[in-house]
Amino acid sequence: MRPTQITIDRGAGVMQVVWQDGHQSDFSLAWLRGNCPCATCREERRAAVENTDPLRLVSTPPPSTAVAAAEFVGHYAIRLTWSDGHATGIYPFTGLRACCPCSACNPDGPPPLVYD
Ligand SMILES: [Zn+2]
Ligand SMILES: [Zn+2]
Repeated sequence: MRPTQITIDRGAGVMQVVWQDGHQSDFSLAWLRGNCPCATCREERRAAVENTDPLRLVSTPPPSTAVAAAEFVGHYAIRLTWSDGHATGIYPFTGLRACCPCSACNPDGPPPLVYD
């Protein structure tokens, strides 16, 4: 499943994807950043889940949810560059479609992004 059009609406904070079958997915940029598929962010999320130590390391500001740039990676994925310079996240289209946030695709909310 591939998109026919991707629109990043910075004002609304949404990446709108129109798929080959005409379906449309509106991904919030905050969700995309929160599910960044790069190895560093995946490791940070894994550690956060497993961390039972009450000691917390907090760094600010929080990760940017503003997209500075976007480019296609081959025919299978899109790479997003965030305004804080983070640019290692490559989002595969098949994973994005599975995570469509509309109530028809995922009535209980989108699942975590699948990367491979
Ligand atoms: Zn990342
Ligand atoms: Zn949908």
